[in-house]
Amino acid sequence: MRRRQIIEYLKLDNIDKYREFDIDIAIRGEKIYQNNKIKNLTNENNKYKAIAQGTEDYNVEIEFDENDKIKNMKCTCPYYKKGNNCKHISAVVFATKLRPYYEKINNYIDKELEILKTNYKNSNVKNKILENKIKIIENNLIEKQGLYQRLNIAIEINIVEEDLEREIYYTKKAAEDVKRRYEEKIQEKEIRQRQTVKRKKHKPGLLFGLLSGLFSVSNDVYKETHDSKEYTEEELNDWDLTEEQKQLVREGHYEPWNFEEDKKSLEEEDYYYEDDE
Ligand SMILES: [Zn+2]
Repeated sequence: MRRRQIIEYLKLDNIDKYREFDIDIAIRGEKIYQNNKIKNLTNENNKYKAIAQGTEDYNVEIEFDENDKIKNMKCTCPYYKKGNNCKHISAVVFATKLRPYYEKINNYIDKELEILKTNYKNSNVKNKILENKIKIIENNLIEKQGLYQRLNIAIEINIVEEDLEREIYYTKKAAEDVKRRYEEKIQEKEIRQRQTVKRKKHKPGLLFGLLSGLFSVSNDVYKETHDSKEYTEEELNDWDLTEEQKQLVREGHYEPWNFEEDKKSLEEEDYYYEDDE
C-alpha cells in the first residue's frame, strides 16, 4: 500500500488538510502538543479553545467547518499578532483533529512491523539489504516520533513487505530451478549408468571381474552388478562356463549369461578373423 491507500485504509482523512502552516511551524506545533503543553482544551460545536504553554501562556481559539477545514483561528502570541499562523494554533490542530491518528498509525506500524519481521524470519530469504531495511525502520521508529514521519515509516514497511514477497517468490523459484536441474542431472547419471552396466555386461572382461573381487569397489555401477540372484551349483553346471567364470558368478560379479554373450562375441571375432584369412 502506498500513501494514499494507507490514508484511506486508516481513515486519516484530515491528515493533509492543514497545510497552511509552514513546515517548521507545524513541527514546532507538534512538539508543543507532544510535550503536553496544551491545557484546558474545550470544544463547542467544532469551536475549540485551549491554553498553549510557552514562555508565557497563550489563549488559542480555532473553529472548524463541517469538513474540518479551519474556519477561524486566533492566538494571543506576538507572532500571530504580526499576521502569521503560529505554532500554538498548529499545536491545537494536533491536539484535536490529528490526535486520533497517532494511535491509528502506531497500531498499524506495530502490527505490520511484527508481521514483516515474522515473515522474514520464517522465509528462506537471506537478503542483507532487506535485513538492513528492517533495522533502519526500527531505528527510525525510535528517533522519529512525528505523525507524518510515522506515516512515512508505515509506507516504508509496506514497501519492504512487497520487496520481501518478491524475494520469497524468486528464492522459491530459484530453489525449484536448482531442484529441477539436480533431478535432471540424476536422471542423466542413471541413464549413463544403465548404459555403462549394459556395456559391462556385454563385455565383462576377466580382468575387471578379478579386480572387483580383490578390491571393494563401492559405486553404483558395481552395486548394480552385485544385485544378481544366487545360483545353485546345479544351475551353474547348466551353463557352459569355465571354473574361473563359475567362481566369478558365485562371488556375484557376473551373471552366467554374461559369459555366454562374451563367448558369442569372441566366436564372432574368431569367425571374422578366420574369414579374413
Ligand atoms: Zn500563537
